[in-house]
Amino acid sequence: MSVMDLPPLREVIAAHGLRADKRFGQHFLLDLNLTAKIARLCGDMSHASVFEVGPGPGGLTRALLAEGAGEVVAVEKDARFLPALEEIGEAASPGRLQIVRADALKVAEDKVETRFSTRLLASNLPYNVGTALLIKWLTADPVWWSRLVLMFQKEVAERVVATVGDPQYGRLAILAAAAAQPRFAFTLPARAFTPPPKVDSAVVVVDPLPSDQRFGDLEALSIVTESAFGQRRKTLRKSLAAAAGKAGASAEALLQCAEIDPSARAETINPAGFMRLATAWREARG
Ligand code: SAM
Repeated sequence: MSVMDLPPLREVIAAHGLRADKRFGQHFLLDLNLTAKIARLCGDMSHASVFEVGPGPGGLTRALLAEGAGEVVAVEKDARFLPALEEIGEAASPGRLQIVRADALKVAEDKVETRFSTRLLASNLPYNVGTALLIKWLTADPVWWSRLVLMFQKEVAERVVATVGDPQYGRLAILAAAAAQPRFAFTLPARAFTPPPKVDSAVVVVDPLPSDQRFGDLEALSIVTESAFGQRRKTLRKSLAAAAGKAGASAEALLQCAEIDPSARAETINPAGFMRLATAWREARG
């Protein structure tokens, strides 16, 4: 038997009584054209191990295997899905599906043994932890992934790819730009999911920047952007006071060092400006 011969997902969901649980952000994608479209965004996966966070009943898992992933490492928190996932593992050739029952927020992906050293990640992300997971992967050291293919709520996807001047521009866009090259792939209407969520979704493809172009202190960048955008209507002189205090400096001094006008607001400063600010923060902190 191959993955293509497995019973339809709706039958599997009914047979195993897999009702979607809101606490785990469960919205299943059962349309084979859409799961294949997402899997193809991974590019050539034949010599790669593809992490999938939240496989659920396994729609995207099947697509990743059918589109030629060398291995899929499926990380699922909800044990109810394990029998359905094991059936997929049995249908795929031996060793192509590794199932990890864990909270993806706590998994150290670089420590998981995989068949291939090239590692990608594809996920229809649980909404409640999507942003936290992206920040975890962007700031991962070492960078273990060569591509992330991620489905978010559309509004979050727009925040990832936003540039200065866009209404969605903020901390997520700056962290993404400092570590990677994100691009918007396509939108999916809420009705594509079972059960449909309240909002539309969108897929973003994130490729890491070459190591010499990646900003070296994402921790400092995370701290200054959190402070600056935490009170985004205030001037930077005010909104940065808390973060500057942690470094034992004044906001004015850090902003001067970074050549940023203290009366500017966070939303007008491009990622390069925030990277200078993060460097100034780190130097002050020592
Ligand atoms: N991949 C399936 C699909 O596309 O139909 C399900 C996607 S559903 C939006 C999100 C999945 O993530 C669920 O299976 C849920 O149980 C799982 N999940 C939620 N929180 C998780 C976490 N912290 N770690 C791992 N999996 C999680």
